Amino acid sequence: MSAQIINGKQISESIREELRLEVEQLKQNGITPGLVVILVGEDPASQVYVRNKAKACEQLGYYSEVVRVPAETSQDELLALIHKYNEQRNIHGILVQLPLPKHIEEKAIIDAISVEKDVDGFHPESVGNLMIGDDALLPCTPSGVIELLKRTGNHPAGKHVVVIGRSNIVGKPVSMLLLRENATVTICHSRTPNLPEMARQADMLVVAVGVAKLVKKEWVKPGAVVIDVGMNRLPDGKLCGDVDYDDVLDAAGWITPVPGGVGPMTITMLMANTLKSAKRARV
Ligand code: NAP
Repeated sequence: MSAQIINGKQISESIREELRLEVEQLKQNGITPGLVVILVGEDPASQVYVRNKAKACEQLGYYSEVVRVPAETSQDELLALIHKYNEQRNIHGILVQLPLPKHIEEKAIIDAISVEKDVDGFHPESVGNLMIGDDALLPCTPSGVIELLKRTGNHPAGKHVVVIGRSNIVGKPVSMLLLRENATVTICHSRTPNLPEMARQADMLVVAVGVAKLVKKEWVKPGAVVIDVGMNRLPDGKLCGDVDYDDVLDAAGWITPVPGGVGPMTITMLMANTLKSAKRARV
């Protein structure tokens, strides 16, 4: 039997509708969530991401600023910009679009963002809070994965989840969030032997690797939930995931398509973080 499709676009739209209603309420109390997105240089992919973030702000009635600075901007100049927005009261979220030009140290920039406004959830204090289970702004793609699972009735509690990938932006945080949701989590990576065998033990498989169509049907336990975080550009220009979707479709119980699965959730969770930060700033 063919897997049920996890429609990230639809789920993302319904979350945005919930956010829009909350924003209306907040605005009645005189608060408008504000997000600043800082783009250094002119990387074409980053330009698209930044435009989409500004569009989402507009759709939900947020205040937003997009600050574009040239690729030659120095680290000190960028830090000064961040300090300015750390102090600015109408801004509740600061996002510096990554990657940054080579002469700027990414860590120095992330560390400089006030943790209260760290809507990407990459600041070491946010990461630490996630780890110990304290309240935190959660990284957007991992929290999007959790929403997809919960909103399709696939609660991770008690399940064995295998995560393939251990990056700081996806693999590790999604594993921590799954643990927090009471899943039993196995984390695999490029040095894991017998990867297909490991994957096949999973009730839920989360794949964040960056290798097109790596996961085949032999890797999937019949009926498992398969979440594909991967976004890879094929030579013909088409986008595809880390899972061989057509191959796995009949083995999985649930599956996210690429595009239209995890992708749309990322910006939506960014919007949710900005709203959360605005609500906190109010009290
Ligand atoms: P990354 O930083 O390159 O990390 C990739 C991880 O996969 C590493 O832990 C690596 O292991 C592991 N890996 C690489 N090749 C492997 C293999 N053959 N077998 C097993 N593990 C392997 O990538 P990332 O930033 O986490 O992103 C992963 C994918 O998700 C990419 O396609 C990216 O475009 C996509 N992504 C999508 C969104 C979204 O919004 N949908 C957001 C972020 C990322 P080692 O640690 O051992 O090197």
